[in-house]
Amino acid sequence: MKSSPHRHTPAVIDLAAIQNNIKKFRKHIGTHPEIWGVVKANAYGHGSIPVSQAIHDLVDGFCVSNLDEAIELRNNLITKPILVLSGIVPDNVDIAASLNITLTAPSLEWLQLIVKEKADFSTLKLHIAVDSGMGRIGVRDAKEANDMIALADQYHIQFDGVFTHFATADEADDTKFNEQKMKFDKIVSALSRRPHYVHSTNTASALWHTNQVQDIERLGISMYGLNPSGTALELPFELEAAFSLKSELTHIKEIHAGDTLGYGATYRATENTWIGTVSIGYADGWTRDMQGFHVLVDGKFCEIVGRVSMDQMMIKLDKGYSIGTPVTLIGHDGDNEITAQDIAAWRKTINYEVLCLLSDRIHRVYK
Ligand SMILES: *Cc1c(COP(=O)(O)O)cnc(C)c1O
Repeated sequence: MKSSPHRHTPAVIDLAAIQNNIKKFRKHIGTHPEIWGVVKANAYGHGSIPVSQAIHDLVDGFCVSNLDEAIELRNNLITKPILVLSGIVPDNVDIAASLNITLTAPSLEWLQLIVKEKADFSTLKLHIAVDSGMGRIGVRDAKEANDMIALADQYHIQFDGVFTHFATADEADDTKFNEQKMKFDKIVSALSRRPHYVHSTNTASALWHTNQVQDIERLGISMYGLNPSGTALELPFELEAAFSLKSELTHIKEIHAGDTLGYGATYRATENTWIGTVSIGYADGWTRDMQGFHVLVDGKFCEIVGRVSMDQMMIKLDKGYSIGTPVTLIGHDGDNEITAQDIAAWRKTINYEVLCLLSDRIHRVYK
């Protein structure tokens, strides 16, 4: 089972907001750099196919995290370049070559395994990853990169790009950022030749180190309307959040002093209290630590009371409501709003994780 459209707990995705955010980025970084939309992890929970199709004319390419995500795009009318941001299992190189999927080459050892495979390498494009300080993947010196370029040439693989990834672009202190930048520039300048694409910037780098954007801006989180730094750094322009999460009351009752709610009976009423039940739980990625946080009903904040179960949770209401009354978990209701960042702060994590954890059971609808 994938999603549950008959349960009225949809994520509503505003594709126009995503398009507007990209247009704002285009203004911010100027006309030269290409923008490649990062749609990994189901487009950060927004749905990779609808998002990719909606932004196809606004971006120059796409970035994903693995080969299956790239294949899914190719099978759904995405014809622009697609870069897989991590090293793939070498056996699958022929799939990438046949679908014109660009691969990240994380090391010489990986490339040596690739060239052993039976594939037509003439259509294969590579971007060499440089580890300038993130410590995840990539070469750490120019010699290894140049050995890779030589090996790629020998097999007629196209050396199309070189890139790195910053670890601290979303922080106020830019010491580490500058160190990484210097290391990357040094390696790039020592390459036997400059490829078509040199790139290093994610959202945070483009927002707060705009002059560092080179040939490609890899635009992720802010395309979806969120601040990569959480609340640490201010955005230079306003973004529109694309994701909202709605539900409705499925059951309403008044409980009395001494009545308890949920597993562990962690909530005990001290007076007559209206309680509503909502069809969402930890199996949806609405995790148990959301107990004590709130949702919006009729424009008012309502506390989540008792433990969050797998599929349902209870909220405290100000009065009796009827079945079907709308509940807002992320988004606006009246004058009030709950953002993914509010939830991230409550859970002591980042807004990226909040959206990525919302499971496939939540039906995605598009406006
Ligand atoms: C995920 C990722 C991005 C996008 O990051 P955002 O912070 O969402 O913009 C860019 N580059 C690489 C290598 C990534 O893994």
